[in-house]
Amino acid sequence: MLLSDTDIKYVKGVGPKVSRILNRLNINTVEDLLLHTPSRYVDRGNIKEIREVKKGETVTLVGTILDVGSRLTRARKTIIEILFSDGTGNIKLVFFNQPYIKNTLKRGEHLLVYGVVDFYRGYQIIQPEYEILGEDGREIENSDKIVPVYPLTEGFSQRYLRKIIHNALINIDVDRWKVLENDLLSQFDVISFIDAIRKTHNPPVMEDAIVGKKALAFYEFLYLQVYLRKQRYIREKKSGAVIEGKILVNKLLKNLPFVLTNAQEKVTDEIFQDLKSSERMSRLLQGDVGSGKTIVALLASLAAIDSDYQVAIMAPTEILAKQHYGKIVNYISGFQVNIRLLTSSTKKSEKIKIKDDLKNGKIKFIIGTHALIEDDVVFESLALAIVDEQHRFGVEQRKKLLMKGNGAHLLVMTATPIPRSLAMTLYGDLDVSIIDEMPPGRQKIVTRWIRNNKRGELYSFIQNRIDENNDQVYVVYPLVEESEKLDLKAATVMYESLKKHFKGINVGLIHGKMKSADKDAAMIKFAKGEINILVGTTVIEVGIDVANATIMVIEHPERFGLSQLHQLRGRIGRGEKKSYCIMITDKYIGDLSAERLKIMENTSDGFIIAEEDLKIRGPGNVYGTRQHGLPNFRVADIVRDEKMLIKARKCAKLIIDSNIELNYNTMLYKKIDNMEKYYRIG
Ligand code: ADP
Ligand code: MG
Repeated sequence: MLLSDTDIKYVKGVGPKVSRILNRLNINTVEDLLLHTPSRYVDRGNIKEIREVKKGETVTLVGTILDVGSRLTRARKTIIEILFSDGTGNIKLVFFNQPYIKNTLKRGEHLLVYGVVDFYRGYQIIQPEYEILGEDGREIENSDKIVPVYPLTEGFSQRYLRKIIHNALINIDVDRWKVLENDLLSQFDVISFIDAIRKTHNPPVMEDAIVGKKALAFYEFLYLQVYLRKQRYIREKKSGAVIEGKILVNKLLKNLPFVLTNAQEKVTDEIFQDLKSSERMSRLLQGDVGSGKTIVALLASLAAIDSDYQVAIMAPTEILAKQHYGKIVNYISGFQVNIRLLTSSTKKSEKIKIKDDLKNGKIKFIIGTHALIEDDVVFESLALAIVDEQHRFGVEQRKKLLMKGNGAHLLVMTATPIPRSLAMTLYGDLDVSIIDEMPPGRQKIVTRWIRNNKRGELYSFIQNRIDENNDQVYVVYPLVEESEKLDLKAATVMYESLKKHFKGINVGLIHGKMKSADKDAAMIKFAKGEINILVGTTVIEVGIDVANATIMVIEHPERFGLSQLHQLRGRIGRGEKKSYCIMITDKYIGDLSAERLKIMENTSDGFIIAEEDLKIRGPGNVYGTRQHGLPNFRVADIVRDEKMLIKARKCAKLIIDSNIELNYNTMLYKKIDNMEKYYRIG
């Protein structure tokens, strides 16, 4: 009897060799094998007769190879052409550059073929997927069953995979694969895990396959949601500091040169409510770039400091930490709050002093980078941990900071608007506050996509704006790890050429490979207005805040993600002046890229942009996977299966809140236990 965590080598038909191949596909246990779900299905109803095919259709055909021919192109590439017939007609199958196909696809071989019909001197399918049906391969043609087709790599046939999956399915120990009790199944209108697996691999009718796969997604989500709920439950059991101080808060509010927006007031209220209660706060503060999160964080911090606790704000980069520090010191000058900055470039002697004073409680307010979570940073009474640009940190880093307090409240902030589905996955354990309103007086940023042939006009425009308005300009280059050297060079070349073009105007360069001090020097010059054009790689994405910077030129925008473009764009439009974001591309770019750039032109709403980004690129690419705590789901897709995600979240809440015993025998228990190991701070 097979359990979910049984090694696949115990499945009948899986020898050491097959086992190795499966391991390479990241299939190690019986459950992994059964979550290797079909990418499509074949049934008699959807096998087409060749005489009926039309151009552009995606079809499944079954037939026999009549003839195989090959020829070389002028570039000496092999083209293999196969004449294929099912008795109702013939069609050509064309393979490029795969000479070895001749050895497997021989005359008389019986095949299942899948692909898009094309027409060129007759019907043909280019690079079809195929399956050799072999001697007993008539199973598909002649059976009334729906036959699954699996995503595969080389090493074994569909038929073989079907067989071992079948063997696994019939030997399952059903009782031990139980995830939810029947009453929960009916309450959430979902089929059991086992049923879901059976339906997915062996659907009596096509609808079953869909129901099965959706349910599998539900279970994958459920494990994560139960885990996150449980984490929160554990965290909240330890009571938090009760924070009610209002003197400093009111003093700051009185001194502010502006009034809070309604949105800022609302979220500040939400945070104060949390801080006041002895239950620990776990809150995510979302707000577009420039929406004014810093002041909200500062108000919360002052409340804690007023109650004689310590506060830490952690930012992902040195520049950002310094900027926060600078701004906050400015806001609270004359408050007599002992505030310090701690980063990796803080002088050694000063570091020691800061660490001492954190330990003895003299420093009340510390702002810094990862340096804050080093082991020898010890707090006397950390009551509020704030993490800025949360998506740049891993789950573990956030926990590390939090654990430096004894029941500290947690506020994480992000300027990357996160679609609801993703927030639930990544931050299922957090409450969410959203600043959905910009401070008044902000100009809408004019965003335009132009082609390289308009570069001359762009430069005249820039020249004009600088001459007449003394405007400042960012020119941004993408920098990706794989081509880092080339990208750096491109940015440097651009810098040289801009220097030549804009005579008498100060042009600066900043990139990630520069020494931190040089980077800062360039930034400071730009902030002071001593540089008018700053060429940079994406290091400026998070960071500086220069109100006079009103033009951003983005080179190769097609190489950035939408959310990233939006972040970049948020660096301008920070003052009263009208701002322009110009994305410049080569003459020809792909349709998908063009579509994305048009989204940028037409919307300034970060949430809409984030949703689009997620749809286009998928969560792994948008937000990173493991290091940000986003699990690699085998079946579930947080965009496609959002309904299941919502259901799973509700179900998880019910399970944890009602204290249903997470029984040792259940799958659920094992899953959560696994996740705990995976997330444990090492
Ligand atoms: P972000 O949400 O990107 O961190 P910041 O907190 O840096 O935004 O705020 C952006 C700018 O807007 C800052 O210069 C800040 O002083 C200003 N600001 C914040 N709140 C208001 C407000 N209610 N009215 C006017 N200006 C504001
Ligand atoms: Mg900010």
